[in-house]
Amino acid sequence: MNNEEYKGLMVFAEQREGKIHPVAYELLGKGTEIAQKLNIEVSAVVLGSDLGDEINELFYYGAEKVYSYNHPVLADFDLLNYKHNVARLINEVKPETLLIGATHLGRSLAPRIAAAVNTGLTADCTALEVGDEGNLVQIRPAFSGNILAHIRTTTRPQMATVRYKVMQKLPRDPSRKGEIIEKEPEIIESVLKIVSKESSGGVNIAEADVIVCGGRGVKSSTDFELLQDLADAFGGIVGCTRPIVDDGWMGKEHQVGFSGNTVKPKLYIAVGLSGSPQHLAGMRDSDVIVAINADPSAPIFKLADYGVVGDLYEVVPKLAAEARQRS
Ligand SMILES: Cc1cc2nc3c(=O)[nH]c(=O)nc-3n(C[C@H](O)[C@H](O)[C@H](O)COP(=O)(O)OP(=O)(O)OC[C@H]3O[C@@H](n4cnc5c(N)ncnc54)[C@H](O)[C@@H]3O)c2cc1C
Repeated sequence: MNNEEYKGLMVFAEQREGKIHPVAYELLGKGTEIAQKLNIEVSAVVLGSDLGDEINELFYYGAEKVYSYNHPVLADFDLLNYKHNVARLINEVKPETLLIGATHLGRSLAPRIAAAVNTGLTADCTALEVGDEGNLVQIRPAFSGNILAHIRTTTRPQMATVRYKVMQKLPRDPSRKGEIIEKEPEIIESVLKIVSKESSGGVNIAEADVIVCGGRGVKSSTDFELLQDLADAFGGIVGCTRPIVDDGWMGKEHQVGFSGNTVKPKLYIAVGLSGSPQHLAGMRDSDVIVAINADPSAPIFKLADYGVVGDLYEVVPKLAAEARQRS
């Protein structure tokens, strides 16, 4: 493989039900920053069916070129067809870097593309930097989140999946324009047949503006109602630490942290949780962090903007009542 042949940075733009997933905009923001340093082009690839004006959003958030595949089979995530067509595009266009959101879809697609084009993949990055000779330094937590591994890929493209809510998107600018390149998809026989679509009814914690997150200080699953009440008072949702999920008290979709969700709400209220490195990895970029903990030496207080040392069973109901009175 001749690495010199590979140029530019490409973002895989995931879409669901015809809407681009916001992680693609975050990747375009980071991609633009990298591209400006290296003086290269930022492109996006999107697969879907009749996406219409939605494609322009990719330009508004920084793409200079969009490779668009339009076919009814591509409306939903069809793993084999997605992998086949993106791999073909890579072999044709030869981007030096390919970034994919570390969503459920991205985590499933990225390793298959990497195998198909015979390159490496760094999964679940939380930061990206430009290193020596313009190489992409892919940074991700390792060893249970206790160290940050800096990884370089010697093959091309350099492929990374990146967590949602860790990169900054550019401000949306509808005056930005770019070139749409319509690509003819090659549809292979698929094993996917969608019989019906059901809502999981689960929460989307990554999108919440206010999160009240409970840890092992909460003594029983029913006591989480106190936290729900506080969350309702702020119009927020309840999250939890991993032991709470391990005990079966809440679903994994509520878990915040290294092996759960990364969140960046406007207000994060940490209740009865210590602030382990694995937990902090998922919430440290929240705008305002409030911690309620009985132990003044709990590590969460080092990160918190506001701290209440006290028993959550006394503090949480008072805070909820106060929030209700003021709203
Ligand atoms: C590979 C790996 C991945 C992991 N991923 C995650 C992850 O994604 N997310 C995650 O959260 N963890 C994760 N963990 C687990 C992590 O290491 C910690 O064990 C976990 O975060 C601790 O949860 P906690 O803070 O709820 O519990 P604890 O550390 O036990 O803290 C409980 C806190 O509650 C306080 N408390 C007790 N009673 C009260 C009271 N009445 N009022 C007020 N405060 C009280 C205590 O002072 C204490 O600080 C992971 C671990 C590993 C090895």
